Amino acid sequence: MSARRPAEVLDWARAFAEEELAPSAGEFDRTGQLPGSVIRQLADAGVLGAVVPPRWGGAGMDALDYGELTEVVGKACSSTRALLTVHTSLVCETLVERASDRIKDKYLPDLASGRRIGCFALSEADAGSDAASVTTSYTRQRDGFVLNGRKKWISFAGIADLFLVFATDNGVLSAFLVDRDTPGVRTAPMTGFLGNRATHIAEVVLTDVAVPEENLVGRIGAGFGFIANTALFHGRYSIAWAGVAIAQAALEEMCTYATRREQFGVQIGAHQLVQKMVADAVTNVDAARELCRQAGRARAERSVEAVMRTNIAKYFSSTIAQQVTSDAVQVLGGNGCWDQYPAERLFREAKILEIIEGTSQLQQVMIADHGYKTFARKS
Ligand SMILES: Cc1cc2nc3c(=O)[nH]c(=O)nc-3n(C[C@H](O)[C@H](O)[C@H](O)COP(=O)(O)OP(=O)(O)OC[C@H]3O[C@@H](n4cnc5c(N)ncnc54)[C@H](O)[C@@H]3O)c2cc1C
Repeated sequence: MSARRPAEVLDWARAFAEEELAPSAGEFDRTGQLPGSVIRQLADAGVLGAVVPPRWGGAGMDALDYGELTEVVGKACSSTRALLTVHTSLVCETLVERASDRIKDKYLPDLASGRRIGCFALSEADAGSDAASVTTSYTRQRDGFVLNGRKKWISFAGIADLFLVFATDNGVLSAFLVDRDTPGVRTAPMTGFLGNRATHIAEVVLTDVAVPEENLVGRIGAGFGFIANTALFHGRYSIAWAGVAIAQAALEEMCTYATRREQFGVQIGAHQLVQKMVADAVTNVDAARELCRQAGRARAERSVEAVMRTNIAKYFSSTIAQQVTSDAVQVLGGNGCWDQYPAERLFREAKILEIIEGTSQLQQVMIADHGYKTFARKS
């Protein structure tokens, strides 16, 4: 299949999400596996290369359509949506924006078509929010670099073909594309996560890994300010829509249940305390989606406000996703705590969004800083 135009990709995704992903999301979560056949279908339909320009085989989707695509997929299955966040946003969008033409020509066609899967290897055991403190090292060789270190919590590292790795040379942070086949690359699966259970999270162990000069992404020293921050800007936009997606799914669960379940001789939805939870959810989902759209418009216009609009959207939508899913569990009562209903999975998935792509506290720090600069009276 070669559904490559944005509208075709979106139409295909809507049908696939409803017919294939939503009914299987619970099983993916239980087994901890995103089947290769699902990834293949997403790839063939152009979903994994959605934002990559047509020049490299992608659909060239704009920010608003990509947001909707993320919501459509994420509402059906968070682990599948995570593949878009990691492969499409963190890796593909970053390479499109920051990599040399040589890297783009060499890697983007395979990434856009999903023939190869990319992952983003920044975090380490002692470098989470303080990502610039990574200790994975690189040293210069005559015709390239040698990498050593250990990356933790790397989504899709278990199945990825390419790793966007961040490493330091005495505090000079740089980014490299590393092929899984390179001698010295090893991954070790990590299990037992609260959510994103089918995202093949692994440690990435690099032992004397030789990386050719041309696989340096950006310049030496550009790893954090230029490459990682660009990637996180794209990843955050994806997570903002992921929050809308999960909250929308939880809203539908709570409304459906509240209009079917009866207690005290009436539908529970007729009780005003239940109505309050539903009203808050409707309002918050609406507000979060609108903040995401504002961020999308700012991104499409390449506005200087795009970064802060994305931070605000990510912070708000992950916060309300947590609230809405918690209320959905509440409305479903005992059934909300049972894995035969989706509410408990949505509740677990929502919490992850407050941690990844910059925790809520880090978003608050950046948003408050923006507030002081923008709103403090100068005289
Ligand atoms: C499911 C999952 C998937 C992931 N996938 C990836 C991936 O693909 N690639 C990757 O590189 N990483 C990945 N990560 C790692 C993720 O990016 C980190 O967990 C995240 O950056 C937070 O770092 P940390 O866990 O070390 O927490 P810490 O940084 O130790 O933070 C712990 C707490 O301290 C707070 N805190 C820290 N600093 C400050 C501060 N300055 N001000 C206020 N509060 C602060 C935090 O907000 C948090 O509440 C993943 C994590 C999870 C859970």
